[in-house]
Amino acid sequence: MAEQNKKMPKTTKNHAAKNAANQPPRRGAKEKSKPNRGYNTGRRTQRPTSVPSLPIHYTALGGLDEIGKNMAVFEYGDDAFIIDCGMSFPDEDLLGVDVVLPDFSYAVKIKDKIRGIFITHGHEDHIGALPYLLKEMNIPVYAAELTIALIDSKLKEHGLSGKADLHVVKAGSTVTVSKNISVEFVTVNHSIPDAVALAIKTPIGYVVHTGDFKIDTTPVMGPMIDLARFGQLGNEGVLALLADSTNAERPGYTPSERVVGESFANLFRKAHKKRIIVATFSSNLPRIQQIMTASAQDGRKVAVSGRSMINFVSIAQELGYLHIPEGLLIDIDEINSYPKDRVTLITTGSQGEPMSALSRMAFSDHRKVEVGPEDYIIISATPIPGNEKTVGKVINELMKRGCEVVYEKMYDVHVSGHACQEELKIIHGLTKPKFFIPVHGEQKHLYKHAALAKIMGMPNKNVLITSIGQTVELTADKMSVVGSVQAGRVLVDGLGVGDVGSIVLRDRKHLAEDGIIVVVASVDGVSGELVSGPDVVTRGFVYVRESEGLIDQIKDVAYKALEDCCRNPRCDWSTMKTRVRDDLSRMLFQKTKRSPMILPIIMDV
Ligand SMILES: [Zn+2]
Ligand SMILES: [Zn+2]
Repeated sequence: MAEQNKKMPKTTKNHAAKNAANQPPRRGAKEKSKPNRGYNTGRRTQRPTSVPSLPIHYTALGGLDEIGKNMAVFEYGDDAFIIDCGMSFPDEDLLGVDVVLPDFSYAVKIKDKIRGIFITHGHEDHIGALPYLLKEMNIPVYAAELTIALIDSKLKEHGLSGKADLHVVKAGSTVTVSKNISVEFVTVNHSIPDAVALAIKTPIGYVVHTGDFKIDTTPVMGPMIDLARFGQLGNEGVLALLADSTNAERPGYTPSERVVGESFANLFRKAHKKRIIVATFSSNLPRIQQIMTASAQDGRKVAVSGRSMINFVSIAQELGYLHIPEGLLIDIDEINSYPKDRVTLITTGSQGEPMSALSRMAFSDHRKVEVGPEDYIIISATPIPGNEKTVGKVINELMKRGCEVVYEKMYDVHVSGHACQEELKIIHGLTKPKFFIPVHGEQKHLYKHAALAKIMGMPNKNVLITSIGQTVELTADKMSVVGSVQAGRVLVDGLGVGDVGSIVLRDRKHLAEDGIIVVVASVDGVSGELVSGPDVVTRGFVYVRESEGLIDQIKDVAYKALEDCCRNPRCDWSTMKTRVRDDLSRMLFQKTKRSPMILPIIMDV
């Protein structure tokens, strides 16, 4: 293994030399002075000397040191474009926040030079923030057919239907961005159809961005990843590779989606007389196809549950991605008119999301489906890190109701959509990049992926782990961080944008952890006398009926503070409020070791 690795650079050197030998003998003096510098020797000799070689600037605005909100800005001279525009879901500490967006103010700042946005595939972490971005700048969007359909449906929800400039691009074709830049779509495999890598052609070589990918030699939907094209790009000269790091910690290969189909066939036999309920990601159309195929073979009808599942199935059916035999699909209202062993239900909720269809079934809150001992439930997904607990809760609850539950740890009911180490190495080996930037992953994933590139013979200085907001400059022979721009996260609560700042969030946390005490009193503004109160209202602090003693003490302390202030002619409203707050918080901490939020409301009457 080690020996093989050592050989790698040598092989590639030979390759570069061969390439150069095939070129017409017009190598410049500059080339001669630095023979065998890298893989791009051939490419550079092809460049007409009249084209000035500007540096490339690449700035990630999300997707580094995190899984989610992938977005990057690619600049070359006076032209720029955006790659992906995803969102992420909030952590537990982001109370009440629905959606997290990348801070794309930098993109807005340079919007005059942005020629378009290229989307690699239709997952939320790549398209979720697009409606918010398009509200700021109406630029053309380029993506494959299914991706465009999903974007369109998302834009409708945001009232942007028909307003965006959407372009369907076929895999294998190229979009001209400017005089110097073009972007080619290269087929890859992933857990959603129509995923592509981007081969960005620049005067100083190709920059290849893999998007999310895996190598599936027997995909269930669509063609196999275009490895041949990756190899050609390598021969033409890849200046830099940016590649998916999600599974960089995992050795070996990600199994083919087809493996799951075989598991389904086995499990469907085991289900016997039971109704089958399968929970999976609504975007995983190959999976949904396999569930439908297994159901048809088992003589079952299929119903679909959950808003996003219904949406995906109808879009995919319309575009011809799903092959559904005549009469297979039934409405969820019809399921009870069939025997249990003639029905499969495909549902959302594989991540234990509290509002999802599966959670509702587990907690007897689903209007149309009641689950029990006659149900055979398959959870066909791995919990995304952080979701293990909620998924566990749903499984426990289903089991309490007597359901049989099959989840990933027990059978092969899920495969990843991301490349493992050997697949990553294949892409590195085919593209032979001069520079490498790992993307799409937490720090540990980026780190592992960088180490992988180095094992394959890449010099330390040619591998860069960068962070969001950092601008990376690429020239023909150097990669470095040259600056930084504003980057981070924007929190969305409901339909508003950015209305949840850090102060709002801090208050929510405080309220959630310690509760609130509201002290209400009226003071005569002229005489300075306490007219009524103080009354005390608490929420989430103590149960009032069992804590009358404490509530009385709160009133006493507040009364004393107010009386003191009223007697002092120099005491203004804000001092009065501060005094009440401070005295109360001191007393409460002494007595209860807790610090609820204290809100004095003092009315001038
Ligand atoms: Zn994806
Ligand atoms: Zn992704």
